[in-house]
Amino acid sequence: MGGLMAAEVLSRFFEEVLVLEKDALPAQAEVRMGVPQGAHVHSLLVQGRRNLERMFPGLASELIDRGVVCSRGGLEFMTHDEAGWFPRRDIQLPLMLMSRPLLEGAVRDFLKRNARVTIRENTRVEGWTFDGDILVGVVGSRGDAAETIPADFVVDATGRSGNSLSWLEAGGFGPIEETRLEIGTGYASAVFKKPPNWHGAVDGLSISNRDPDTKGGFLFSIENDCWLASLTGRFDQQPPGDPDKFMAFAQSLCVPDFYNWISKGERISPVKVYKAPISRWRRFEKLARQPERLLPLGDALAHVNPVFGQGVTLASAHVMSLWNVLAERVACGGDLNRVARPYFEKVHSFTKTVWENLESVEYRYACTKGERPVDIDMRIAYSRGLRKLVEDDAEVHRLMGGVAHLIHPLEAIRRPDIVARVMRIMQTGTTAATAH
Ligand SMILES: Cc1cc2nc3c(=O)[nH]c(=O)nc-3n(C[C@H](O)[C@H](O)[C@H](O)COP(=O)(O)OP(=O)(O)OC[C@H]3O[C@@H](n4cnc5c(N)ncnc54)[C@H](O)[C@@H]3O)c2cc1C
Repeated sequence: MGGLMAAEVLSRFFEEVLVLEKDALPAQAEVRMGVPQGAHVHSLLVQGRRNLERMFPGLASELIDRGVVCSRGGLEFMTHDEAGWFPRRDIQLPLMLMSRPLLEGAVRDFLKRNARVTIRENTRVEGWTFDGDILVGVVGSRGDAAETIPADFVVDATGRSGNSLSWLEAGGFGPIEETRLEIGTGYASAVFKKPPNWHGAVDGLSISNRDPDTKGGFLFSIENDCWLASLTGRFDQQPPGDPDKFMAFAQSLCVPDFYNWISKGERISPVKVYKAPISRWRRFEKLARQPERLLPLGDALAHVNPVFGQGVTLASAHVMSLWNVLAERVACGGDLNRVARPYFEKVHSFTKTVWENLESVEYRYACTKGERPVDIDMRIAYSRGLRKLVEDDAEVHRLMGGVAHLIHPLEAIRRPDIVARVMRIMQTGTTAATAH
């Protein structure tokens, strides 16, 4: 996803953009080897949709034509967390629910219409060549044939399991410092056909519970009258790939809704399992010697716990930073050798916000391992107080949703009046309304 978005943005600055993809690309929307996470629920956050629409005007309506399910967050999409179900109300978050292959396929089709862009499939990148600090070429292979492709500028969007760090180190850069969190997350997912007479008022569910129960799930209505059902768990509560055990795990969730829905449907895909044990934030900005004309983005730069549904949006924010930095460069004469520092400054602040916001959920689970921030207990207590406030306050609910969807900064839920009410809850244990 990051590579496709970056190619579109780069085409506004360069005459020829080449996307190198190791997979054979499917003609239909289907899961492929290089993106195994495509079998699992992918929510597109509101900020991610906005960014994508800026890069590919008309994408949202194209997605609707391809059958995505449009759902009103809070009203038709319901969330259960450690405090129970969120109150049912329209929090003005328009959601688009679809499979990852449908989203990726639509974006790729938009990109294919761009005459400056060529997508070369079945081409594996195996390294980079440098002239001093400057990247000058990409080593690629197609079947038995290897070639070095000269390049003025390269974006690394090799994803979560790419091995581009070793190419960087081979060029004399590194080692790259890493901020990491051991989260022990596992997924198991399958597609279910909805029963023909299904007329649910709710399109999707997101279910989690309080530690030590780490089991949860996401159930999304997607294209073709199907549900994509993803079960999740942490550490020793991994969801299973065996179909019968999958159903039993669903039945063991803290609320019955997930199981009740899927047991009425028909499973039409195998159960696929994915492990995401560690969240990583690679600190390229700390490199003493920066490679020039080479920028990493998306999962290659930072990948967080998928349960928060932020990966595509994070990649899109990195691409927006790339866009801004290149536009600034062009405005000052177009020197491509000094984009790394301003780029890393921009992506750093956004990635940091996302990372810090997630910490206050991750560290609620006792098994999470990482460098526990000194103020984390306070942050967790604050977010629990805020959650209580949501019960009575629709505006706070809306703001909290906006922060989760990355359309509002964290400050939105740290407004002085909100802080005062949350502090009161933290002191009294009751909500502002009942404390009066
Ligand atoms: C289980 C799971 C569920 C998720 N759910 C969500 C969600 O709900 N919402 C969300 O926004 N995000 C979600 N994510 C995260 C999301 O999938 C990623 O953040 C997003 O795809 C990042 O984009 P990317 O471009 O960095 O990597 P990817 O989209 O993974 O793309 C990497 C690409 O690089 C290619 N590639 C890799 N190495 C090479 C090479 N050497 N040569 C050539 N090509 C290569 C791969 O084939 C692939 O096409 C989830 C992730 C997982 C694991």
